[in-house]
Amino acid sequence: MICDMHIHSCYSFDGTPTLEEICTVAMERGVGIIAITDHADMVDTGGYGVDAYYAAEPARLEAFAHLQPWNPGVEVLYGIEIGNGHDAKVATEKLMEGREFDYVLGSVHFLPDGTDIYKMPFASPEEIDGMWREYFASVLRLVNEGGFDCFAHLDYPLRKMEGKVSACTVEQYADLIDPILQALVKQQIALEVNTRGMYDWQQRVCPEDWVLRRYRELGGKYVVIGSDTHTVDYIGTGFAEAAAALKRCGFDSYTIYRKRQPVQIPLD
Ligand SMILES: [Zn+2]
Ligand SMILES: [Zn+2]
Repeated sequence: MICDMHIHSCYSFDGTPTLEEICTVAMERGVGIIAITDHADMVDTGGYGVDAYYAAEPARLEAFAHLQPWNPGVEVLYGIEIGNGHDAKVATEKLMEGREFDYVLGSVHFLPDGTDIYKMPFASPEEIDGMWREYFASVLRLVNEGGFDCFAHLDYPLRKMEGKVSACTVEQYADLIDPILQALVKQQIALEVNTRGMYDWQQRVCPEDWVLRRYRELGGKYVVIGSDTHTVDYIGTGFAEAAAALKRCGFDSYTIYRKRQPVQIPLD
């Protein structure tokens, strides 16, 4: 069974495909379970944050309502990726109120001062080091606040560091990452294996093996595989590499979420 628990559709500000297009490609590729995790960034983004999510929501709900009868070959889970929920707690509570998601991803896309990490120039080693320290501190706060099922793309800022770092690793920040992994275990929040690096410059899944091993050693059980694609091109991409990474790090299953409940699927 192949799944992809991190897909952006045309209801994300930076996504293109309709749900029908996503399902068609998922079926062609034998991806049996998908989660549509459109963006809701909770901080002031200048027009593409949670207000954009609310504006698209009626059409999104309508599209979901018509999906299952149209395409019984793919199980489509109703997800969301909430960015920086811990920096706007009241707004995030309002978003969660009365909405029944299958799966809620939590992520950090912005530094505490509002800087969009994706737009940072990363012009010097000092800027990069300062960003990582702020980023991991923010992630720890997010996980300690909880209220979501899985923490997305631990090494997200690396996406923008092609040619700017000598090694594609966050191992030098192991002392900042360890408390995050401990908090994930304590909060029973899953760790995402994000496969975007397989179709980006990193050429590996995120996180690195040592992170997966340490999460497992601390008692972490829940690991969710997702491509983070924003087009139909990468649906299911990197699933095999993610499964292989999990196996060599000692996991024998991965996790999907239905109605916010974890379901373990054997890796074989
Ligand atoms: Zn994200
Ligand atoms: Zn995403």
